[in-house]
Amino acid sequence: MILRTLGVAGSAPRPDSPASTYLVQVPADAVAAGIASGVVPPDVAVRDWNVVVDLGSGGLGYLQRHVSLHALDAVALSHLHPDHCADLSGLYVHLKYHPELGYASTGVPPHLPVYGPADVAERAGAMYGLHPGESMHEIYDFRTWTDGAGVRIGPLVITPRPVFHPVEAYGLRVDGPSTLRPGAAAVLAYTGDTDYCDTVVEVARDADLLLAEAAFVQGRDDAVEAGIHLTGARAGRVAREAHVSRLVLTHLPSWTDPAVVLAEARAEYAGPSCLATPDGCKEL
Ligand SMILES: [Zn+2]
Ligand SMILES: [Zn+2]
Repeated sequence: MILRTLGVAGSAPRPDSPASTYLVQVPADAVAAGIASGVVPPDVAVRDWNVVVDLGSGGLGYLQRHVSLHALDAVALSHLHPDHCADLSGLYVHLKYHPELGYASTGVPPHLPVYGPADVAERAGAMYGLHPGESMHEIYDFRTWTDGAGVRIGPLVITPRPVFHPVEAYGLRVDGPSTLRPGAAAVLAYTGDTDYCDTVVEVARDADLLLAEAAFVQGRDDAVEAGIHLTGARAGRVAREAHVSRLVLTHLPSWTDPAVVLAEARAEYAGPSCLATPDGCKEL
């Protein structure tokens, strides 16, 4: 499994990064090795798989560096704040109106699966400015998360758990074949946006890599009400309690010093930890 941290900025894009946008890729050879070892069901197509996890403001640009927008297998949204889903509008335009490959030219509806909270279809349509009676259903096949119900996307299974944020929001646990250890299974855990809670620790339990937001800073943000974001320290606590193998911090806004957040996390978690970099790559 390859994790591309395309956009790592929190709350809005930064000068150096789009907002939250990640691409999870499984190359064909990892699918084949997974089928041979039993980690992947035998009916999964042996090809490259590409799943977008959150698609925040600006992320669509970096996404095109790595995959054709017409070769995506699904979009999985942690929640519907714009820094996690705003570029659904641009992707819709691309899939519908691309002069050669768009639905308006080919007549073939892409029906790209888009997983998200209960009102994902309505919110995506409103964001784009659909008129009453219009829908995005030829382009997007909207599907809603159910707590604990894993969804299979080719060689991957994504399991959502509700987390602690002001809107309906999920942490996502992604099970799939390892590329570092061909034939073995690997787990990527993603917090989405959340304050510390029991479910985010469950999402992260024994994960090979925990991608954790760390938007807040100890001291500076102590007066903010509970239920919004992790600090570096809270992300480190989740990593420690969940016994993850690696911690990668993300969703840092432009006003936060990354070194401060990373130091907080390292005071709580003794395992390997680092900051996610824009258009960066981690293998697991
Ligand atoms: Zn956010
Ligand atoms: Zn949010």
